[in-house]
Amino acid sequence: MDNNFYGPLKAVIFDMDNTFFDFVEAKLKACAQILNYLEKEGNSVSEDAESLFRYFLRDSYGFESHENLRDFLQDNALFTAKYYKICRLIYEREKLESLKLYPGVKPTFEVLKKTDLKLAVLTDADKKHTLARLKKVELQNYFDEIVSFDMTGRKKPDLYPFRFLLRKLGVEAKAALFVGDSLRRDINPAKKLGFKTVYAAYGDRNFHENEKPEHKGDFQLQTFPEILSCIAALNSVSSPSSPRSPSRNSCPTSQSNITEFIRKV
Ligand SMILES: [Mg+2]
Repeated sequence: MDNNFYGPLKAVIFDMDNTFFDFVEAKLKACAQILNYLEKEGNSVSEDAESLFRYFLRDSYGFESHENLRDFLQDNALFTAKYYKICRLIYEREKLESLKLYPGVKPTFEVLKKTDLKLAVLTDADKKHTLARLKKVELQNYFDEIVSFDMTGRKKPDLYPFRFLLRKLGVEAKAALFVGDSLRRDINPAKKLGFKTVYAAYGDRNFHENEKPEHKGDFQLQTFPEILSCIAALNSVSSPSSPRSPSRNSCPTSQSNITEFIRKV
C-alpha cells in the first residue's frame, strides 16, 4: 500500500459482474442450455458452450447483445425466427438463474451496512439487467447509489462513469475505495482518479483481454470478505492533513471484529 491516503474513507464502490458473482460461469451455463435445447430439437451442433460464449467476447455487438446468438445460429445454419426467439429467452433466464454469490458476500455486506460508509455499484451492465441481478442474489438493498451504463452512456475504463458516481455520492476519489475484478476496466481508471483500489483477484476471468496493466491494486483479494481487512487497514492510516473522525474510530470494522467475522465465514 502506498502512503498517500488522506481519508477518512467515506465510500466503497463495487463493480458487479465477477466481483459479487461469477458472471462468466452463469453465461457459460446459459450457453450450455441453449445447446441442449437445439440438440433436443433434433439438431446436431458441433460447437460447445465455450464456442458459443466466445461469440459474446467479440467487439461486434457487445457482451450482452442477442445479436451474438443470431450470428451463432446463422454460422451453424440453424437460424429460424423460432429458434432465435427461444434461444434469447433461454439465455436471459439461465444467465439470471445461474447467478450465485461468491462465499461470504452477503455476510460481508451485513457488516458493511452497520458502518457509516456509503456503498455503491458502478457497472457496465444496463439498469434493467443490473437490478435483476442484484435482486436475484438479494443484494439490491445494500447500496446508496447504483450507476449503470445507460445512466452515463460510457463504459469503463472511461473515467466519466467514475466521476459521475462520485458526484452522486458527494465524495472525493481520495476518500473512496474501488473494488473490481478487472485491472484494465476497474483498477487502473480508479487509480488514475485517486481512488484506493482493491483488485478482486478471485473473480478475474478476463482471460480474453490481452492488455495487462501494470497497476495491480493497492490490495488484492483472494476472497470477498477480505475487503473488511482492507477497510480496517485504510482506516488505521493516520493522516496529518485530515485526522480520523470520532465516528470513524468507532467504526465496527475494527480489526478484532473483522478477524472474528472472517473466522466465522
Ligand atoms: Mg467485473
